[in-house]
Amino acid sequence: MLHPRIEARKLLRELRIFDLPVNMTDLCSSLGIDIFFDTLEGLDGYFIYNSANGKYVIVVRDSAGLGRQRFSIAHELGHIRLNHGLVGFSVTGQVARDARLETCANMFASELLMPKLLLQRFGFLTPARIAEICQVSGETAAIRAKEMGWA
Ligand SMILES: [Zn+2]
Repeated sequence: MLHPRIEARKLLRELRIFDLPVNMTDLCSSLGIDIFFDTLEGLDGYFIYNSANGKYVIVVRDSAGLGRQRFSIAHELGHIRLNHGLVGFSVTGQVARDARLETCANMFASELLMPKLLLQRFGFLTPARIAEICQVSGETAAIRAKEMGWA
């Protein structure tokens, strides 16, 4: 099984991304992935594979805040890069994924948007500064600050 944090680091290195905030639009575009915004209800995002052109499309909720949208894009990209397969859809809505895969996609997203090596350059950051520098939500930044041993 692919390790979420290592895969995120590999991707940043491959695309030569060394600056924060990570530009998710550019990143997805380099991978040939389209991002769309839609009025999703009870869902932050999902991705589909268009077999007609061989491209992935990530769809995010248009009413979500910027930080949350960025995390959703990174999370869906995690599912794609970690080969989690497509989410099943039924007429009644999305079929829930394995919680373990969700955790992996979150780990990937966290490392992609708030890369350990880039954050370490700062020595110490408060959650508010992480949120500002990485353009993530305060909640996500607080979790990362704890993981970095800063909170
Ligand atoms: Zn997910």
